[in-house]
Amino acid sequence: MGLWAAVKAERQGIRTLLLDAVRPASGASGGLLGALMPHMPDRFGEKKKFQFDALITLEDEVRRLEAETGLSCGYRRCGRIIPLPKPHLRPIAARHGLDAAEHWRAGDRHFAWRLLDASPDAGWVQPQAGPAGFVHDTLAARVSPRALTAALLAAIHGSHYVQRVDGQRVVSLERDAAVLQTGERIGFGHIIIAAGTGSFALLERLGGAGAVPLVRPLGSAVKGQAALLKADVDPGRPVIFLNGLYVVAHEGGHVAIGSTSEDRFEDGVSTDEQLEGLIARARELSPDLQVASVVERWAGLRPKAVDRDPMVGPHPDCAQVIALTGGFKVSFGLAHRLADAALAALSGQPADMPRSFTLSHHLEVAGMRA
Ligand SMILES: Cc1cc2nc3c(=O)[nH]c(=O)nc-3n(C[C@H](O)[C@H](O)[C@H](O)COP(=O)(O)OP(=O)(O)OC[C@H]3O[C@@H](n4cnc5c(N)ncnc54)[C@H](O)[C@@H]3O)c2cc1C
Repeated sequence: MGLWAAVKAERQGIRTLLLDAVRPASGASGGLLGALMPHMPDRFGEKKKFQFDALITLEDEVRRLEAETGLSCGYRRCGRIIPLPKPHLRPIAARHGLDAAEHWRAGDRHFAWRLLDASPDAGWVQPQAGPAGFVHDTLAARVSPRALTAALLAAIHGSHYVQRVDGQRVVSLERDAAVLQTGERIGFGHIIIAAGTGSFALLERLGGAGAVPLVRPLGSAVKGQAALLKADVDPGRPVIFLNGLYVVAHEGGHVAIGSTSEDRFEDGVSTDEQLEGLIARARELSPDLQVASVVERWAGLRPKAVDRDPMVGPHPDCAQVIALTGGFKVSFGLAHRLADAALAALSGQPADMPRSFTLSHHLEVAGMRA
């Protein structure tokens, strides 16, 4: 999230200090999966429209970034296959097909939620996984998290406007300065807080002694584990999604598998038998993966805001502090648009996004401004 904001700040000629406790993309964004999964096409309200537009505009954003840097982001609109294990899911999928026909349109482009009787590729998706059929969604895509963040970093490398400082943790915020772990204070005109799960504590303490205390935290960390397999599969294969299991084919013969979703954990970065369970399920679901070797196991912490939606925009009592976090499970498809909204707040412009995405909304939910 912060990297997109830095790249866009550089393009707008805004003098920026990009500060990270470790180094950019060392948090959840340094992972393996990179699925860009649309919400269901039914009940297509403001939030789904925002995500749909973001999934479409990401194509141009990636194209521009790749042209600027000469690096690939590992992006592809590969689509998604969802096996239907139970008969009652079939009429629901058929209805969603009509919803997609109505709402998944961008100019003269249409995207489908298509009901299939059989697996489109028996090697990639086990035919028995969908006794009631399969959905093929043509809007879903994937991006390589590490390739994308490397391209974003390359775009600001040597920048005239963006200076990068790694290994400096912000421990608290004042109205016009960030206080570092070293005790040093760094003054700012505006500050964008895109510290992933570290954002919530910084934003909660803002407002000083006079602030009404929150009755619950502004957000939490949800652990996820994922794995990368080496397999001789076509990188254009669709994402497979079944009951929380994602199988994502990437370039270079790599397939990512994820993810656990853990509210309680002792160690945020270790992997365990839950991941082995997911790998076993993936091998069962996709015959092509049966003998694929595991080349990496990885875990990270997703930033989940108190009301689950992204948390973006100015603090109501301190407009120079702007949140850009809470992407939870869908950050990669939204970050470029959310960064636009955060930068708009810098010049006091209203944000072009649903109200439930604003920091003000989340503060209300957390009790501060009830
Ligand atoms: C296993 C797993 C699978 C996932 N799969 C997908 C997926 O398929 N698609 C998708 O869209 N999303 C997915 N996600 C979610 C996605 O990865 C996250 O929502 C996203 O990476 C969050 O990005 P961020 O920039 O908000 O935070 P991060 O990437 O965590 O970045 C925060 C940065 O802030 C720095 N920082 C933290 N605290 C401080 C501080 N106090 N001072 C200075 N710097 C600080 C950190 O060092 C870090 O570099 C997945 C997450 C996990 C864990």
